Amino acid sequence: MAGPSHHAPPASDPLDRSRFPLDEWRLVEKRFDLEDAGVTESLFSVGNGYLGLRGNLSESRDAHFDGTFVNGFHETWPILHAEEAYGFARIGQTIVNAPDPKVIRLYVDDEPLQLSVADLLEYERALDFRTGVLSRELLWRTPGGKEAKIRATRMVPLAQRHLALMTFEVTMLDQRASLVLSSQILNRQDVPGFAASSVTPGSTNDPRQAEGFDRRVLMPQLASADGETGRIALGYQCADSGMTLGVVADHELDTAAPYSMRVHAEDDSAKVMFRVAAEPGVTVRLTKLVSVHTAASVPARELIDRCERTLDRTHEQGVQHQLDEQREWLADFWSRCDVEIPGQPALQQAVRWNLFSLAQASARAETQGIPAKGVTGTGYGGHYFWDTEIYVMPFLTYTMPYAARNALRFRYTLLDSARSRARELAQKGALFPWRTINGHEASAYYAAGTAQYHIDADIAYALSQYVGATGDTDFLRREAIDIFVETARLWADLGFWRDETRRTFHIHGVTGPDEYTTVVNDNLYTNVLARFNLRRAAHAVWELQKADPAGYDELVRRTGLREEEPSEWADCAKGMLIPFDEYLGIHPQDAHFLEREMWDLERTPLEKRPLLLHYHPLVIYRFQVLKQADVVLALFLLGEEFTPEQKRADFEYYDPITTGDSTLSAVMQSIIAAEVGYHELALRYFNSAVYVDLADRHNNTADGVHVASTGGVWSALVGGFGGFRDLGVAKGADQWCVDPRLPEGWEALVYRVTLHGTRVRVTVRQDELELFAEEGTGPVRLNVRGHAVHVTQGAPVVVPLDGQGPRIPGEPPNPAGVLRADGTVISAIVPSGHDPVHDPTPQS
Ligand code: BGC
Repeated sequence: MAGPSHHAPPASDPLDRSRFPLDEWRLVEKRFDLEDAGVTESLFSVGNGYLGLRGNLSESRDAHFDGTFVNGFHETWPILHAEEAYGFARIGQTIVNAPDPKVIRLYVDDEPLQLSVADLLEYERALDFRTGVLSRELLWRTPGGKEAKIRATRMVPLAQRHLALMTFEVTMLDQRASLVLSSQILNRQDVPGFAASSVTPGSTNDPRQAEGFDRRVLMPQLASADGETGRIALGYQCADSGMTLGVVADHELDTAAPYSMRVHAEDDSAKVMFRVAAEPGVTVRLTKLVSVHTAASVPARELIDRCERTLDRTHEQGVQHQLDEQREWLADFWSRCDVEIPGQPALQQAVRWNLFSLAQASARAETQGIPAKGVTGTGYGGHYFWDTEIYVMPFLTYTMPYAARNALRFRYTLLDSARSRARELAQKGALFPWRTINGHEASAYYAAGTAQYHIDADIAYALSQYVGATGDTDFLRREAIDIFVETARLWADLGFWRDETRRTFHIHGVTGPDEYTTVVNDNLYTNVLARFNLRRAAHAVWELQKADPAGYDELVRRTGLREEEPSEWADCAKGMLIPFDEYLGIHPQDAHFLEREMWDLERTPLEKRPLLLHYHPLVIYRFQVLKQADVVLALFLLGEEFTPEQKRADFEYYDPITTGDSTLSAVMQSIIAAEVGYHELALRYFNSAVYVDLADRHNNTADGVHVASTGGVWSALVGGFGGFRDLGVAKGADQWCVDPRLPEGWEALVYRVTLHGTRVRVTVRQDELELFAEEGTGPVRLNVRGHAVHVTQGAPVVVPLDGQGPRIPGEPPNPAGVLRADGTVISAIVPSGHDPVHDPTPQS
């Protein structure tokens, strides 16, 4: 067996710094390039989890793909299977490219500004992570030889769900000119491949891209333009899903120069045109306020009323108020979520872009899920996957718990359709859809879709983690416990007992996270997670029965729970078969995995990657080759159930055959590489992940930001290098531990986690760890390398990392706790009986 590998690039800065100069708080671009316009449109997107505007140029020219997305706003279509079978997904769901409100076209003496051909003397585009504003500054020498200074901004407020703000300023530097600013809302009928109006299922060979429609999707309901106020509006209804949308824009022109205004509205466009006689040195400033509302079926007219109310309120508050509010929102966000890597400015910038993207994907998702691409692109059709629960929710739970709760409540609202889906698949309980927008299964390819039953356990895992981290037992008892009950029922019913040397519980015919091996028996990840799910559900029910008998009665009423069910679940968990190969000392990915032929990745040319675009699934399925972490992911999520030796052996076995063709892989490989001692490799994987989009590592950032990877970047920093683990998830208890593995060249790593309302700042240095309660009263108890440490408000706790626990360097450990000369407190040491990280009980 070749040792761990190498599918990770060297840990160097991949960005061209002459084009993207270093800035720890902004993504800055100094040269526009049409070649990678699709990538930069995704990177410079602004959004709030509900509304998303790709970073298209406001001139609405030179776009790879003009995109405006509203989370959950989708069209449906019948999935036509070449060969039908019972229970196949029937309703395709695809996010719709909404009417584009970004358009502001500039003409100087009738010459249009178009970046790809313009004579640009200066150019800068920047996305500021602290102000939340995307800005552009240009100095344009017009074909007529005049110089125009242009400054444009765009913002989607994180605090206001239905709003977008744009400004466009033009200053003629040297000469008079006739300016036209044409501001529009445009429902595009002409975008090839994917458009609101033209999509054909099967129109792409890449399963990661959205289908295209071949018919009109958005049926015009209303178009208006007010010549007095400059207010324009469009309303639509989706032809098949019936969803409705209203979009309204207001305009204000600020200038000392004389100007006139004309408006026009028709089915697919509404515009306001300002003609200005511009004087040199006199700035012409257009402010455009946009509001978007969508609904399942509310008439478009009513949605337009809602937009108007949003805009009226915004006018009352003023634009400055929105800018201030955005700054405050982000100041709060960074105080809770920032991860600092002092002395590593390039990584710092990349990390912050990833975290900022997480905010933009989730802040106002609220009653919707979090799509795989957030609101930045059409990739994966705008669907929600397990990406949310396993990759994004850890970040939300520990830094923005309200958003984690929203994501869980969204799943709760899908419970009824998940119950029906389980019936359809001849199962009890509930089966959540592998991919969906409206709650119905939308994965047409069941082998790598519906068969991923692990989605149930992933949701239960995220729920348990959320409750443990926040202490929000009220939410659990009133609603969310139903998720535990129904998912446990699914597992108990899906699996079956076999009597061999001992009586074991098996789960057959499922697909684990790795989509290069499908429909298998006893997938390790699925069985380990299902075992957790069954146990956790049983304990949650017993706890409720004891603590809140009335709540328990309610649960019985809601779910028809039988008294003996929890014991049955606990039994299934106890008997769960966890595949283990004694000879190799590893966990096979599934019952027959090791019988397959080994794929030789080292000899697979780069042109053949990703494998999914170059080989028939049957070819791939026949081999031992992974798209993404599977066993390795289980080692992270439920690490306490494996010994350090098993983790290392598993990692060494799977790493060389893991392609990382999914961006969900590198982050997890990084975490476990760090844990089992492959520090350099861990850093390479991290480097690969943190630049997944910034360096377009998978050649598809143009389809949107890889949100799961951005969440995984947080996990790799906090859970990998930072060593923060949550051992309580399995037990429903709070049991946090920290065992850091700081990369060699890093002087420090600083992160924050909010535990039961107390925000703890963790500073990892090469030789010590510092814990400080930044907000909240605590006390919080954490286990640092086997020593219990209490963090209370006031003084930081310093723990030397020499294996001997908290102490003053040079002195023996002092169980009473001591005050250091510099005023910091060395924690009182509470010797812990059992260190689950270093002394785990093998479960194989
Ligand atoms: C991965 C899935 C993931 C999906 C959406 C696929 O390539 O294999 O695990 O859920 O992308 O991100």
